Amino acid sequence: MLIVCAESARVEVELSGGLLACPSCGGMLGPWGHARVRVLRCAAGDRVLRPRRARCRACVCTHVLLPEICLLRRRDEVSVIGAAIEAKVAGEGHRAIAERLGLPKDTVRGWLRRFAGDCEAIRAHFTRLAFVLDVELGAVLPAGGVLADALEAIAVAVRAWVLRFGSRPVWPLASVLSAGVLLCNTSCPFPAVR
Ligand SMILES: [Zn+2]
Repeated sequence: MLIVCAESARVEVELSGGLLACPSCGGMLGPWGHARVRVLRCAAGDRVLRPRRARCRACVCTHVLLPEICLLRRRDEVSVIGAAIEAKVAGEGHRAIAERLGLPKDTVRGWLRRFAGDCEAIRAHFTRLAFVLDVELGAVLPAGGVLADALEAIAVAVRAWVLRFGSRPVWPLASVLSAGVLLCNTSCPFPAVR
Protein backbone atom coordinates (compact mmCIF):
# COMPACT_ATOMS: atom_id res chain seq x y z
CA MET A 1 0.00 0.00 0.00
CA LEU A 2 1.28 3.42 -0.93
CA ILE A 3 -0.28 6.83 -0.36
CA VAL A 4 -0.31 8.98 -3.49
CA CYS A 5 -1.73 12.29 -4.70
CA ALA A 6 -5.55 12.41 -4.73
CA GLU A 7 -5.47 13.64 -8.33
CA SER A 8 -5.72 10.51 -10.49
CA ALA A 9 -4.30 12.12 -13.66
CA ARG A 10 -1.12 12.97 -11.78
CA VAL A 11 -0.89 9.46 -10.37
CA GLU A 12 -1.13 8.07 -13.93
CA VAL A 13 1.71 10.30 -15.07
CA GLU A 14 3.86 9.34 -12.08
CA LEU A 15 3.09 5.65 -12.49
CA SER A 16 3.70 5.46 -16.22
CA GLY A 17 6.80 7.63 -15.84
CA GLY A 18 8.30 5.25 -13.28
CA LEU A 19 8.36 7.98 -10.65
CA LEU A 20 6.79 5.96 -7.83
CA ALA A 21 8.96 3.76 -5.62
CA CYS A 22 7.97 0.42 -4.11
CA PRO A 23 7.35 0.81 -0.33
CA SER A 24 8.86 -2.67 0.20
CA CYS A 25 12.12 -2.49 -1.74
CA GLY A 26 12.40 0.96 -3.33
CA GLY A 27 12.12 -0.50 -6.86
CA MET A 28 10.20 1.17 -9.68
CA LEU A 29 6.42 0.71 -9.69
CA GLY A 30 4.47 0.18 -12.89
CA PRO A 31 0.68 0.13 -13.56
CA TRP A 32 -1.13 -3.08 -12.56
CA GLY A 33 -4.90 -2.60 -12.93
CA HIS A 34 -7.15 -1.26 -10.21
CA ALA A 35 -8.06 -2.18 -6.65
CA ARG A 36 -11.70 -2.68 -5.60
CA VAL A 37 -14.05 0.26 -5.68
CA ARG A 38 -14.70 1.87 -2.30
CA VAL A 39 -16.86 4.72 -1.04
CA LEU A 40 -15.11 7.36 1.02
CA ARG A 41 -17.26 9.47 3.36
CA CYS A 42 -16.07 13.04 2.80
CA ALA A 43 -17.10 16.36 4.35
CA ALA A 44 -18.59 17.32 0.98
CA GLY A 45 -20.44 13.99 0.55
CA ASP A 46 -19.62 10.43 -0.48
CA ARG A 47 -16.89 9.95 -3.03
CA VAL A 48 -16.44 6.77 -5.04
CA LEU A 49 -12.80 5.78 -5.36
CA ARG A 50 -11.24 3.19 -7.59
CA PRO A 51 -7.62 3.19 -6.45
CA ARG A 52 -4.91 2.23 -8.87
CA ARG A 53 -2.90 -0.89 -8.28
CA ALA A 54 0.81 -0.97 -9.07
CA ARG A 55 3.41 -3.72 -9.36
CA CYS A 56 7.05 -3.43 -8.47
CA ARG A 57 9.36 -4.28 -11.34
CA ALA A 58 12.04 -5.44 -8.91
CA CYS A 59 10.29 -7.52 -6.21
CA VAL A 60 6.99 -8.06 -8.18
CA CYS A 61 4.88 -7.19 -5.12
CA THR A 62 1.64 -5.39 -5.91
CA HIS A 63 0.54 -2.30 -3.98
CA VAL A 64 -2.71 -0.36 -3.79
CA LEU A 65 -2.14 3.34 -4.45
CA LEU A 66 -4.45 4.93 -1.92
CA PRO A 67 -5.20 8.65 -2.43
CA GLU A 68 -3.85 10.93 0.30
CA ILE A 69 -7.37 11.92 1.39
CA CYS A 70 -7.71 8.37 2.82
CA LEU A 71 -6.26 6.46 5.72
CA LEU A 72 -5.76 2.75 5.46
CA ARG A 73 -8.83 0.78 6.67
CA ARG A 74 -10.85 3.92 7.45
CA ARG A 75 -13.92 4.80 5.44
CA ASP A 76 -13.84 8.51 6.29
CA GLU A 77 -11.78 11.27 4.75
CA VAL A 78 -8.60 11.98 6.72
CA SER A 79 -9.50 15.68 7.13
CA VAL A 80 -12.74 14.73 8.91
CA ILE A 81 -10.87 12.34 11.20
CA GLY A 82 -8.25 15.03 11.81
CA ALA A 83 -10.94 17.57 12.71
CA ALA A 84 -12.30 15.13 15.30
CA ILE A 85 -8.82 14.68 16.79
CA GLU A 86 -8.28 18.45 16.95
CA ALA A 87 -11.66 18.90 18.67
CA LYS A 88 -10.83 16.18 21.20
CA VAL A 89 -7.51 17.82 22.02
CA ALA A 90 -9.37 21.13 22.42
CA GLY A 91 -11.52 19.44 25.07
CA GLU A 92 -14.66 18.36 23.20
CA GLY A 93 -16.19 14.92 23.95
CA HIS A 94 -16.78 12.24 21.32
CA ARG A 95 -20.59 12.57 21.41
CA ALA A 96 -20.50 16.30 20.75
CA ILE A 97 -17.92 15.87 17.99
CA ALA A 98 -19.95 13.08 16.33
CA GLU A 99 -23.10 15.18 16.44
CA ARG A 100 -21.39 18.21 14.97
CA LEU A 101 -19.77 16.16 12.17
CA GLY A 102 -22.95 14.16 11.55
CA LEU A 103 -21.24 10.81 12.17
CA PRO A 104 -22.05 7.78 14.34
CA LYS A 105 -20.66 8.32 17.83
CA ASP A 106 -19.07 4.85 17.87
CA THR A 107 -17.09 5.73 14.74
CA VAL A 108 -15.71 8.90 16.29
CA ARG A 109 -15.03 7.15 19.59
CA GLY A 110 -13.12 4.45 17.67
CA TRP A 111 -10.83 7.02 16.02
CA LEU A 112 -10.19 8.84 19.28
CA ARG A 113 -9.46 5.63 21.17
CA ARG A 114 -7.05 4.53 18.46
CA PHE A 115 -5.35 7.93 18.50
CA ALA A 116 -5.11 7.80 22.32
CA GLY A 117 -3.78 4.23 22.22
CA ASP A 118 -1.13 5.08 19.62
CA CYS A 119 -0.37 8.63 20.74
CA GLU A 120 3.14 7.90 21.96
CA ALA A 121 4.07 6.06 18.73
CA ILE A 122 2.47 8.88 16.70
CA ARG A 123 4.34 11.55 18.67
CA ALA A 124 7.65 9.69 18.30
CA HIS A 125 7.15 9.01 14.57
CA PHE A 126 6.24 12.59 13.60
CA THR A 127 8.89 14.11 15.87
CA ARG A 128 11.58 11.96 14.23
CA LEU A 129 10.27 12.93 10.84
CA ALA A 130 10.24 16.64 11.74
CA PHE A 131 13.94 16.46 12.61
CA VAL A 132 14.71 14.62 9.36
CA LEU A 133 12.87 17.33 7.41
CA ASP A 134 14.40 20.24 9.31
CA VAL A 135 17.82 19.60 10.78
CA GLU A 136 17.79 23.02 12.44
CA LEU A 137 14.52 22.39 14.25
CA GLY A 138 14.57 23.34 17.93
CA ALA A 139 13.08 21.20 20.72
CA VAL A 140 9.41 20.25 20.30
CA LEU A 141 7.81 21.67 23.44
CA PRO A 142 5.22 19.80 25.57
CA ALA A 143 1.70 20.83 24.54
CA GLY A 144 -0.12 19.94 27.76
CA GLY A 145 -0.93 16.24 27.64
CA VAL A 146 -0.18 13.08 25.67
CA LEU A 147 -2.88 13.69 23.04
CA ALA A 148 -1.88 17.32 22.59
CA ASP A 149 1.78 16.28 22.32
CA ALA A 150 0.94 13.80 19.52
CA LEU A 151 -1.10 16.43 17.66
CA GLU A 152 1.68 18.99 18.12
CA ALA A 153 4.24 16.53 16.69
CA ILE A 154 2.03 16.07 13.59
CA ALA A 155 1.75 19.87 13.24
CA VAL A 156 5.52 20.36 13.60
CA ALA A 157 6.33 17.65 11.01
CA VAL A 158 3.75 19.04 8.57
CA ARG A 159 5.14 22.56 9.05
CA ALA A 160 8.69 21.30 8.42
CA TRP A 161 7.53 19.52 5.23
CA VAL A 162 5.65 22.61 3.98
CA LEU A 163 8.64 24.90 4.65
CA ARG A 164 10.82 22.58 2.62
CA PHE A 165 8.54 21.49 -0.20
CA GLY A 166 5.64 23.96 -0.35
CA SER A 167 2.05 24.29 0.80
CA ARG A 168 -0.17 21.21 1.06
CA PRO A 169 -3.31 20.46 3.11
CA VAL A 170 -2.44 19.38 6.64
CA TRP A 171 -4.30 16.10 7.18
CA PRO A 172 -3.74 14.58 3.72
CA LEU A 173 -0.05 15.37 4.27
CA ALA A 174 -0.22 13.70 7.70
CA SER A 175 -1.63 10.64 5.90
CA VAL A 176 1.29 10.66 3.45
CA LEU A 177 3.80 11.12 6.27
CA SER A 178 2.33 8.18 8.20
CA ALA A 179 2.20 6.08 4.99
CA GLY A 180 -1.57 6.00 5.52
CA VAL A 181 -1.38 4.02 8.73
CA LEU A 182 -2.27 6.82 11.14
CA LEU A 183 -5.07 5.16 13.16
CA CYS A 184 -4.69 1.85 11.36
CA ASN A 185 -6.09 -1.25 13.09
CA THR A 186 -2.80 -3.06 13.39
CA SER A 187 -0.30 -3.14 16.19
CA CYS A 188 2.68 -0.84 15.91
CA PRO A 189 1.73 0.47 12.46
CA PHE A 190 4.46 3.06 12.06
CA PRO A 191 7.13 2.44 9.46
CA ALA A 192 10.70 3.41 10.19
CA VAL A 193 11.78 6.78 8.84
CA ARG A 194 14.22 6.33 6.02
ZN1 LIG B 1 9.55 -3.85 -4.60
